[in-house]
Amino acid sequence: MHVLLSARAPAGRAIVSAEPGRGVLYVVATPIGNLGDISARAIEVLGRVDRIAAEDTRHSRRLMEHFGIRTPMLALHEHNERSVAKTLVEQLRAGESIALVSDAGTPLISDPGFNLVRLAREAGVKVVPVPGASALLCALSAAGLPTDRFVFEGFLPARSVARRKRLEQLAAESRTLVFYESSHRIVESLADMAGLFGGERRAALARELTKQFETIRQAPLATLAEWVAADSNQQKGEMVVLVEGAGDPAGVMDADAERVLTVLMEELPVKTAAKLAARLTGLNKRELYERGVALKKQLPGLRG
Ligand code: SAM
Repeated sequence: MHVLLSARAPAGRAIVSAEPGRGVLYVVATPIGNLGDISARAIEVLGRVDRIAAEDTRHSRRLMEHFGIRTPMLALHEHNERSVAKTLVEQLRAGESIALVSDAGTPLISDPGFNLVRLAREAGVKVVPVPGASALLCALSAAGLPTDRFVFEGFLPARSVARRKRLEQLAAESRTLVFYESSHRIVESLADMAGLFGGERRAALARELTKQFETIRQAPLATLAEWVAADSNQQKGEMVVLVEGAGDPAGVMDADAERVLTVLMEELPVKTAAKLAARLTGLNKRELYERGVALKKQLPGLRG
């Protein structure tokens, strides 16, 4: 069957049209909690395609049943994506229409689907997004942190050494940082962020978005980390962590302070160098640290 939604769709309804006889891959966003967030267009597309490729068919079947959708489903997850993608692209080239969904939110955003979309495009198959919920934009829209520029970091490494290393690399980033985090690691991750970005840096925790216990709290990192560590309810469910970007220390730091920092970094790790430079210059330790991290990138010879 080929999907061709009429150009005379009801007012306000998005319109999808495609050439008859050519398959279309629809990348369909589903709710991240509240089922009311599914779009009318998503329901229509999911009900009309030949098959739905779902990350977990048992999980998505409940959603489909709720909306009376009986389209056949097949599993496409991180373990079988490469092989299943090849079969699906053959079916798309033969004229079938397929919808890709993940367990929640937008496919490909920390979810499977990239291989399928890439392969489909390489094969000349039309790929159509059907937009909807995504935890990252949902969190960003309500956290109260700058949204003009942001970086989506997905999940941090699970192991603490690798996580801290990644956070160190991000300490001087000036755009708002958005992370997905698991409930098992939220306490450790927030403590690491407070340590490496500085406890005063503004941040937000957006938990259980669109669900019954939705909680969005914005506070300096140290306060946020303490609050979550002290309340086990804040360690439950699904969560997004947002951190305001670093200021631009280069713009305000005087040349003497930077020279002190650079000399110390020739002999010492950046953290120790920033601490000593703060004592010598009276400047803020966090700003010196962030400048130190930036200097390290520019001057790889520094030890720090
Ligand atoms: N594709 C999804 C999207 O578009 O947001 C993300 C899938 S990723 C496997 C799951 C992670 O997204 C969770 O661990 C959490 O960090 C975040 N997430 C998903 N739903 C959420 C919700 N309702 N509230 C807060 N975070 C959520």
